[in-house]
Amino acid sequence: MSKTTLPWRDEIKKRGASLVALRRDFHQHAELSMQETRTAEVIAERLRAAGLEVRTGIAKTGVVGVLHGEQPGHTVAWRADIDGLPLDEIPELPFKSVNAGAMHACGHDGHTAIAITLAEILAARRAELPGTAVFIFQPAEETFGGAQPMIAAGVLEDPLVEKIFGLHLTTMLPAGAVAMRPGPAMASSDFFDITVKGTGGHGAYPHLSVDPITAASHILIGMQDLVSREIAAQEPAVMTIGEIRGGTKHNIIPETAVMRGSIRAFEARVRDQLVERLGSFASRIAQAYRAEARVSLVGDCCPAVVNPEAETAFVHQCALDELGAEQIHDVPPVMGSDDMSLFLQARPGCYFWVGIAPDNKDAMPHHHAAFEMNERGLPVGVQLGLATLLRSLAGQ
Ligand SMILES: [Zn+2]
Ligand SMILES: [Zn+2]
Repeated sequence: MSKTTLPWRDEIKKRGASLVALRRDFHQHAELSMQETRTAEVIAERLRAAGLEVRTGIAKTGVVGVLHGEQPGHTVAWRADIDGLPLDEIPELPFKSVNAGAMHACGHDGHTAIAITLAEILAARRAELPGTAVFIFQPAEETFGGAQPMIAAGVLEDPLVEKIFGLHLTTMLPAGAVAMRPGPAMASSDFFDITVKGTGGHGAYPHLSVDPITAASHILIGMQDLVSREIAAQEPAVMTIGEIRGGTKHNIIPETAVMRGSIRAFEARVRDQLVERLGSFASRIAQAYRAEARVSLVGDCCPAVVNPEAETAFVHQCALDELGAEQIHDVPPVMGSDDMSLFLQARPGCYFWVGIAPDNKDAMPHHHAAFEMNERGLPVGVQLGLATLLRSLAGQ
């Protein structure tokens, strides 16, 4: 299928207004991870109206739509994440989030609208459609809590999915551009707590106490050396403490101090080494200060997104034919994480990027309360998604 023969391009144009309206509706009604009830209702309603078989309540608020084409072909899934973030939106948009403390600041409103539009386009021409398309709407990507229970609920088993694709919108790229990387594309993520226990007392008599804050400070500074001295320079890894808690007053030495942070890496080996070393490093540094430290992992690890060579080359070819070489950008692997990784551990596929950077101003980072999306990127996502789905369903 070449650039000139993808037969469904008119369908994308026809749905341009509906695509933007859908995205704005999700944006205006942003919901936090595992609370996406309205979002799930809208998704289910649209998929039912398009004639898909719809299952709801998977992993609490997840939705799956199955579309059987009338021609023989393969079974291929498309995954979109649907949750917002705990932020109070700053930009005064006409479709600003009406839910205080919830905002689509990562682009998942766009992912959801693109996936619904893809389902509607394919459903409208079911008679020509080869194979079976499975649309997976996953809750709780932002807390890494939605992919695993959806997979456990069998969304890749019935019908038996052969490959899975999806996209993340990004302000790293201008609107209209796309990118895909074989191998590690997004980092793994682990969250940890370091609890340092000492003995409280008066700030004027530290020699009568064991100060957990001093011990925690040395752990914080020293742990960066685990990356710089123990991991090879060509293997990227990041350790960040994002929260420190300890004490109540200027002159009281507290009993405990807690630091919370995250580890990012691309190789499981590097991730395992840092997790293991952080535990013994923290406990020994604390011991040197007569305190005790315990490191505990919080929640599940989100592994790195690793795109297989063959499926990434396939999406690259689709992009080349559909959008042209000038729209395909080269991007380095990103230290951000995404639990699409779990789907890609279960099935071959590719998770690619589609640009949504503003045209005339600097982009605000994802997860910022002033984040904004350039909606010109949305139909580009639909176009590359459609090409990817149509060709893989047909086994091309
Ligand atoms: Zn995010
Ligand atoms: Zn995201």
